[in-house]
Amino acid sequence: MKISDVIVIGGGLAGLMAASVAASRKQSVTVLTYGSGSLPLASGTIDFFNAENPEVAIKNLPETHPYAKIGAKALDASAKFLCDVAAQANLPYHGRISAQIPVVTAVGTLKYSALVPESMDASKLAGKKKIFVVEISGLKDFYASMIVDNLKKYFPAKQFETAKIDLRFLGGRDITCMDAAQLLTDNEQPLANELKALNAGGDDAIILPPIFGVMGNFSRSAVQTQVKAEIFETTCLPPSPAGMRLQRAFMKYLQSNGVKFFENSKVVRGVVEGKKVTGVVVENVVREKTFRAHKIILATGGFYSGGIQMREFDNPKEMIFDLPVFFPTGAENWSNQQLFENKPQGFSMTGILTDENLRPVDANGKVLFDNLHVVGANLGGCDKIFERSLGGIAISSAYKAATV
Ligand SMILES: Cc1cc2nc3c(=O)[nH]c(=O)nc-3n(C[C@H](O)[C@H](O)[C@H](O)COP(=O)(O)OP(=O)(O)OC[C@H]3O[C@@H](n4cnc5c(N)ncnc54)[C@H](O)[C@@H]3O)c2cc1C
Repeated sequence: MKISDVIVIGGGLAGLMAASVAASRKQSVTVLTYGSGSLPLASGTIDFFNAENPEVAIKNLPETHPYAKIGAKALDASAKFLCDVAAQANLPYHGRISAQIPVVTAVGTLKYSALVPESMDASKLAGKKKIFVVEISGLKDFYASMIVDNLKKYFPAKQFETAKIDLRFLGGRDITCMDAAQLLTDNEQPLANELKALNAGGDDAIILPPIFGVMGNFSRSAVQTQVKAEIFETTCLPPSPAGMRLQRAFMKYLQSNGVKFFENSKVVRGVVEGKKVTGVVVENVVREKTFRAHKIILATGGFYSGGIQMREFDNPKEMIFDLPVFFPTGAENWSNQQLFENKPQGFSMTGILTDENLRPVDANGKVLFDNLHVVGANLGGCDKIFERSLGGIAISSAYKAATV
């Protein structure tokens, strides 16, 4: 049986990144996953930390934090690597870890993120003369007047105008951003035709829901040349074309770098010899199959995608290797009464603790397996939602695991 250099378990953001980085270093890589992970639900932006300068805030975190194990070098390299992968799929990203870029949300507030698709980079809005916010006929969950009301709080002196365009969808059902993005993939002309009627000027901006295709082959510049104004996308409720585009950019990279990608492959257990994981077992409809590798990267998504489950209180389980899972003991530490109060939630800190090479450790800090590395939402010890570090931890831990 062929032994891969690396097996990645899980095809979410962390798994795709780990597999891409390993493949870029000429390693033979196999990805085993049974679901597509959170990317098609996510905004497509990569949040590193909720601070004006995430890089500085991350440097001051305690040594128990996953970022302290990952280290500044992998953090920086991971941001560059993701931008490269996206650029190769004609999906330019802006940003760096030392600053935050504003993005207009689906309700018209500004969200700040370190890495954002170029089409969502709202930092230029401040310099625009007039901002048009444009609804699509039949598209739900995008209300131009609400967006304008909220944007006015950030840009009180600016001129705003709302408009509605018709992309002529057939049938009577509600349209999602995904439908509109699919319609415009490889064909931006219907959008350009409608926007021309706004008579926007070269100093103006047009804000739309995220409908600029589902792959990086929608020509934003072709539309801008025709309508004169610069066009921008907001985030949206799931499913999200922007998250999907990033997922497809990674899939394209994996394909062109010879990575073997097995979907519908649920890993059920590891094959262990002493302190080494020599393979993993995949359950499929008729039989089990063992895959072997020198290094295993566990990117199964923690609570969000079933990598860690808790069927009884105070007993969270890692589902493949039965690794020890850190969690705040005692119901009183498990959650705050107010879900959205300004403190981390205990349950959100649940996950696996590791050494500086992201190998799982026991309660005494002893490394359990020499060649198993844990990444992404599986990592414990911090509330990634409260900190807004989910994407940043996913890509930087993946980069580190693939390069140690
Ligand atoms: C609605 C939503 C919005 C988000 N918005 C943002 C945002 O704005 N900014 C940001 O930075 N991040 C955001 N995120 C987070 C981000 O997209 C990723 O969820 C996060 O980075 C974690 O990635 P992951 O790869 O660790 O886990 P996941 O994306 O959850 O992927 C885990 C993968 O492992 C697979 N898996 C699990 N168990 C097994 C098994 N036994 N065998 C094989 N495969 C298995 C799953 O099917 C899945 O493919 C958002 C997430 C969600 C859900």
